[in-house]
Amino acid sequence: MPKLNRRKFVKALAAASAVLASDSLSSVGPAVSSGSYDVLVIGAGVFGSWTALSLRRSGRSVLLIDQYGPANSRASSGGETRIIRMGYGAQELYSRWAWQSLPEWKRLSESSGQTLFHPTGVLWLGKADDPEIAQSVVTLGKLSIPFERLSRSDLAGHFPQLGLEEGAIGLLEPAAGALMARRAVQVVVAQAVREGVEYRPGLVSAPSGTARVESVSVNGESVRAATFIFACGPWLPHIFPKLLGDKIVPSRGEEFFFGPPAGDRRFIENSFPTWIDNISDTFGTPDIEGRGFKIGVDLHGPAFDPDRDSRTLDEKSYRWVRDYAARRFPGLKDAPLIEHRVCQYENASNEEFLIDRHPSYENVWLVGGGSGHGFKHGPALGAYVAGKVTGGGSVDPVFTLASHAPVKSPSIFSR
Ligand SMILES: Cc1cc2nc3c(=O)[nH]c(=O)nc-3n(C[C@H](O)[C@H](O)[C@H](O)COP(=O)(O)OP(=O)(O)OC[C@H]3O[C@@H](n4cnc5c(N)ncnc54)[C@H](O)[C@@H]3O)c2cc1C
Repeated sequence: MPKLNRRKFVKALAAASAVLASDSLSSVGPAVSSGSYDVLVIGAGVFGSWTALSLRRSGRSVLLIDQYGPANSRASSGGETRIIRMGYGAQELYSRWAWQSLPEWKRLSESSGQTLFHPTGVLWLGKADDPEIAQSVVTLGKLSIPFERLSRSDLAGHFPQLGLEEGAIGLLEPAAGALMARRAVQVVVAQAVREGVEYRPGLVSAPSGTARVESVSVNGESVRAATFIFACGPWLPHIFPKLLGDKIVPSRGEEFFFGPPAGDRRFIENSFPTWIDNISDTFGTPDIEGRGFKIGVDLHGPAFDPDRDSRTLDEKSYRWVRDYAARRFPGLKDAPLIEHRVCQYENASNEEFLIDRHPSYENVWLVGGGSGHGFKHGPALGAYVAGKVTGGGSVDPVFTLASHAPVKSPSIFSR
């Protein structure tokens, strides 16, 4: 990446952000005379934005389009924060990708002058026989990624904020932490624009025709490209209902932000890590940038329509989270709810990402299926997709359509 002149970059960032924020149809970046691009990337979430940037860095002319704007509030990438952890049980590929992505996030944070990564560390909580923690220890060890195993007394000593069951254990990843999700994606897009990607707000319709697609409709205007990449997250099953309607199912996910008492520093960054609780299927972050102590529920809620469904608080899940908070974080028993977010998981049945060509169109790619764990991998995934699109070669079988069986309907939030 070229050594950046920060003042010029910040000026370009401000200009690009201003245009990204506007919904005018004017585009940013170099006008492509022929009106045709090497690659048209649809969707400026974390998958599409890093893919566009990686393709541009491989010398392709790229148009990036989003219907609501980069990391908008409906997008799965539009949340406040997202955890980056390297522990993935026995799934070594994702540990490698997360470890490969972390320095890219840090580099962009550094070069943009924006805080995109908070090095809070990540604490896993589990029962003594937790297989994911046990396998993560093996994988992290193999990849020389730092970690520390914690007994119940270590946990109680290090983190008196915790209410702990008998037999609870911990795994600490000191290099891991929290990414400022929405902000980070908008910085990736601004960087992509700075490096020559053209960004345009617009709604893209599903491709039609046979075998090779020449153009797609953007707000009713025909736009030509040699290759089309649909990185449309939870919208993929809406755009390709026959192909993906039962392979990627968006489900409702909720995050609650609690306000620690004024002056109580026990729950802020540097006093408590980002955490994943395998005992209660929850996860969260300490109070970062004054947004409150986040508690998210790692269970599939009801099926969710990202365009139409309202993002209101569900009383039943709120009561459950309150009870949980009182048990796990007694110091937050009476903390007020200061913010709440509803987002959707883009669930694939095997929780593996989908990266494959459309079976009917040789130059159309489908990229999605983040399944509640995709954000952190943006840099590695973008480079991988760009490599497959430009260099060919077969895609890892776990990512192919063939390996994505239909999703059983997500279970209703039963707690
Ligand atoms: C509650 C919650 C917590 C999570 N926590 C974590 C975490 O801690 N760590 C982690 O790594 N991951 C986490 N994830 C998962 C992660 O956020 C997602 O996997 C990731 O953001 C998916 O990105 P995406 O680019 O595929 O989709 P999106 O971010 O949804 O982007 C898709 C984009 O496509 C655009 N689009 C769609 N259709 C069209 C069209 N026809 N024309 C033009 N534009 C279109 C949309 O406007 C949208 O901006 C979490 C997810 C949720 C819901």
